[in-house]
Amino acid sequence: HARLLEEKTSKSREFHRRASNVTPLGVESNVRSFDPYPFYIEETDGSYVYDMDDNEYLDFLLALGPIILGHGHPEVKEAVKRQVEKSDLTATPQPVAIEFMEKVCEMVPSIESVRMANSGTEATMHALRVARSYTGKEKIAKPEGGYAGAHDYALQSVYASEEALGPEEEPNTVSYGTGIPDAISETVVAFPFNDKEATERILRKHADDMAAVIIEPVMFSCGCLKPRDGYHEFLRELTDELDIVLIWDEVMTGFRLGPQSAQGRFGVTPDMTTFAKAAGAGYQVAGFGGRRDIMEEIVPPKKKEASKWNSSAFHGGTYNGHPVAAAAGLKTLEILDERDVYEHIDRLGDRLFNGLQEVADDAGLAVNVEHIGSMGQVYMTDHDIHSYRDTWHANTDQFADWWLEAAADGVLFGNPLQGERFFTTYTHTDEQIDHALEVAEDAFRAVDHQ
Ligand code: PMP
Repeated sequence: HARLLEEKTSKSREFHRRASNVTPLGVESNVRSFDPYPFYIEETDGSYVYDMDDNEYLDFLLALGPIILGHGHPEVKEAVKRQVEKSDLTATPQPVAIEFMEKVCEMVPSIESVRMANSGTEATMHALRVARSYTGKEKIAKPEGGYAGAHDYALQSVYASEEALGPEEEPNTVSYGTGIPDAISETVVAFPFNDKEATERILRKHADDMAAVIIEPVMFSCGCLKPRDGYHEFLRELTDELDIVLIWDEVMTGFRLGPQSAQGRFGVTPDMTTFAKAAGAGYQVAGFGGRRDIMEEIVPPKKKEASKWNSSAFHGGTYNGHPVAAAAGLKTLEILDERDVYEHIDRLGDRLFNGLQEVADDAGLAVNVEHIGSMGQVYMTDHDIHSYRDTWHANTDQFADWWLEAAADGVLFGNPLQGERFFTTYTHTDEQIDHALEVAEDAFRAVDHQ
């Protein structure tokens, strides 16, 4: 399966050697690497990306989520150009960042007060610190299998084996990769998503030390795990009762599952929310916010005797609220708020993901396609998918083969890692979905059915 793609990508193969000289794996982020080598993209336009061998790919990977308006939306581009002409970075605040944050507060139900960051990782790291400061407690809880960024507190019980995680009713906390101090793992508690009983038992056990629960409303870090009916309402009540700050990590779902994000769609309001990706349509926009009394933890109490800078939860950063990112974010949110974006991407999402299930069934392959709105995943199994451990039934080799077949035919369904979900975007058309489904069906037929 890889050979088909290799035949089309000789320049990328050469370039991969050069890239590997200067950067590990020849890529800028580990998840961009796949065997035998990735293809390097030179240009993007609307629904398409173009590699250095001039191959065209119909894109459903969409930069892992940010590209909600299609690549290079003309109005976002114009807003960026205008801002570049007007100002670059300063160490004094700029109105454009404040206007962006006003728009976030206006659109997201839980956010009364907000700060900008440069990545989802930074957003979750700061949100957790603020929650610890607010509660005076140290531990955090997260669902096993959940990815909440690349900092040490978030890289716990992500992608671990059954042996390492232990029993599902009370999973062990396992660092993802090396280089993470045990002392940090000791402050993180894992629980199984969608399992009310186990979640409640674990949170009650640690409640006195527990500052925050950080959770994705839909666990896209495991592909697409939808919450069972009532799970989020239950978690909302329980965290209220136990004085635990409920943080919804909407880095993936924020401004993608609707103008109010997943919280609007589900009608549950967390205490804090993180966002990134779709908020900037491809520019480095991220942030965290929530209840005003919690966000006030960032404000130094001026009368304290200690240095005013270390008497509150610190949030800072040279690039925070970068005017170009803020201009891109403001224009993106205006478009998302005012146009028929969600109607379009959700309708095409239903067509794409329901269609993938149908063509896989026609091809005689055991496949379970899960989706919500414009986001979804193909699992190579007929097993139900409700928990992280359910996803282990999926045949990841089959998925990689299917992905490579489709990529060789010019369609990118996510990336070849089973964990990565994919998306529809505003520039996708019905004709493009029809074409993608034809390519997908051929690819399903080409995959070894064993
Ligand atoms: N949280 C979630 C739910 C994510 O999906 C991601 C990124 N995939 C992050 C946090 C981290 O965001 P970033 O890659 O921008 O650091």
